[in-house]
Amino acid sequence: MIVILSAEGAAEHLASGAMACPACGGGLRKWGFGRTRTVRGLGADRVTVRPARVRCAGCSKTQVLLPTALQVRRADTTEVIGTALVHKANGLGYRRIAERLDRPVSTVRRWLRRVPPEHLHWMYTQGCERLATYAADAFSRIRNTRNPLHHTLTMLAAAAFHARERFGFEDPPWTLMGMYTRGRLLAPPRGG
Ligand SMILES: [Zn+2]
Repeated sequence: MIVILSAEGAAEHLASGAMACPACGGGLRKWGFGRTRTVRGLGADRVTVRPARVRCAGCSKTQVLLPTALQVRRADTTEVIGTALVHKANGLGYRRIAERLDRPVSTVRRWLRRVPPEHLHWMYTQGCERLATYAADAFSRIRNTRNPLHHTLTMLAAAAFHARERFGFEDPPWTLMGMYTRGRLLAPPRGG
């Protein structure tokens, strides 16, 4: 699987040969589509996508291109899961978050369990690297609240903010933050 910001951008990268196979660095070509997925957005929104598939000319491996508005193997968008994490960072418990997002308590509880310290640290590092590239002077304006989840989300959001500001990206902030974290705001299950 390769994460992409948008289908349009990926098509351009493919056409120009700018996208390489993550396994061997070989050239990629269009190779039909992956399974159609319908995921839940905020509120009652539903998003249906048919992710493109590519095949490597070198090793023949096929990969699905996942737009980062979506999360790897999750039935809710990056925005929904991201919003749940923001609520948690702000001190809300899983029951109240489930109520606000209109999602089953068990689902929200499962999400909130998937941000262990190692994963948070990894996301934090992704945010820092991006922010250092886009606006290194912004670091001094970010206050460490001693809440690791809050601090991590702030770092990612700051990187997305400055990317939009500097390069005029129109992608929604959560889509950019999904890109920085490679479609994984939540840690993959063990072995996955
Ligand atoms: Zn390859």
